[in-house]
Amino acid sequence: MKVALAVHGGAWNVPDDDLQDHQAGIERSLRHGWQLLGAGASALDAVTSVVQLLEDDPLFNAGTGSHLNRLGKVELDASIMEGNDLQAGAVAAVERIRNPILLARAVLERSEHVLLVGKGARRFARENEVPECRARDLLIGRARETYLRIRAGETDLIATEFAPRDESSAKTGPEHMGTVGAVARDSSGCIVAATSTGGTLDKYPGRVGDSPLIGSGTYADSRLGGASCTGWGEGIIRVVMAKSTIDRISAGDELTAAADAALDNLARVGGRGGMILIDHDGRPAAAFNTPRMARGLACAEHGLRAGVDASMERLA
Ligand code: ASP
Repeated sequence: MKVALAVHGGAWNVPDDDLQDHQAGIERSLRHGWQLLGAGASALDAVTSVVQLLEDDPLFNAGTGSHLNRLGKVELDASIMEGNDLQAGAVAAVERIRNPILLARAVLERSEHVLLVGKGARRFARENEVPECRARDLLIGRARETYLRIRAGETDLIATEFAPRDESSAKTGPEHMGTVGAVARDSSGCIVAATSTGGTLDKYPGRVGDSPLIGSGTYADSRLGGASCTGWGEGIIRVVMAKSTIDRISAGDELTAAADAALDNLARVGGRGGMILIDHDGRPAAAFNTPRMARGLACAEHGLRAGVDASMERLA
């Protein structure tokens, strides 16, 4: 069976100064996951490990380095879905969990539920020995600085998160970060997808985006394909982006045509974003309608490719 991997570090307005770091971060995670899959790891283990690596990288808006909500707190969302048995686990609005993807996976494997939120999710973490951390361990200077700037009235930072900036705001520097995700198909043909995020800038406390919602931010069915989405969550939820794209593929759409159609539908509700996909034959793809998206694709046929701008580099 064809092995494939797709990873992303968010579809948004990555500033010029951050391009190289995002390229390097996404390459690191792609190589890591590809090596695991090559060594015979299951898609479930490879995807978990890739997302954990990206959560630990402060460059990305997931785990360490997440955005702050309107009250200055980090609240995290994550989900993972296994496509053989359609098993899924997700957590939303959780605080003080270093790796929400590990908690989502614990929900998948050890709970009779699919989605746990807030205090209940933390209680489940404690019972299942998923590591907790201090709130400040997840906080990085850049996220705090952005929070203070928004509080001081720079609300255009919120408006330009996913849309192109004009010339003047392009000078404001790297204030955003990107959600992370991974989709893999292992040698047994199992497809797994996962997504993890700190959510959108200045989100209302308790706000939950698409990332932990199965069908919207994440979906996997080994018979059809898998997807992880990123972008404006309120729009992605309304068009049920991950599942509707997989459905287009199963109805016969070519992979990128299906993703482009899903993004056109997202634009209908005023949304911007992107997604990574793997189809049932192990073909990986990525698509976005934001200015940039950090993404990487790996398969035997095309090797390893990664990019943040429109083009992708083939990796040695
Ligand atoms: N989709 C995420 C959310 O709305 C944010 C992102 O992908 O950047 O929470």
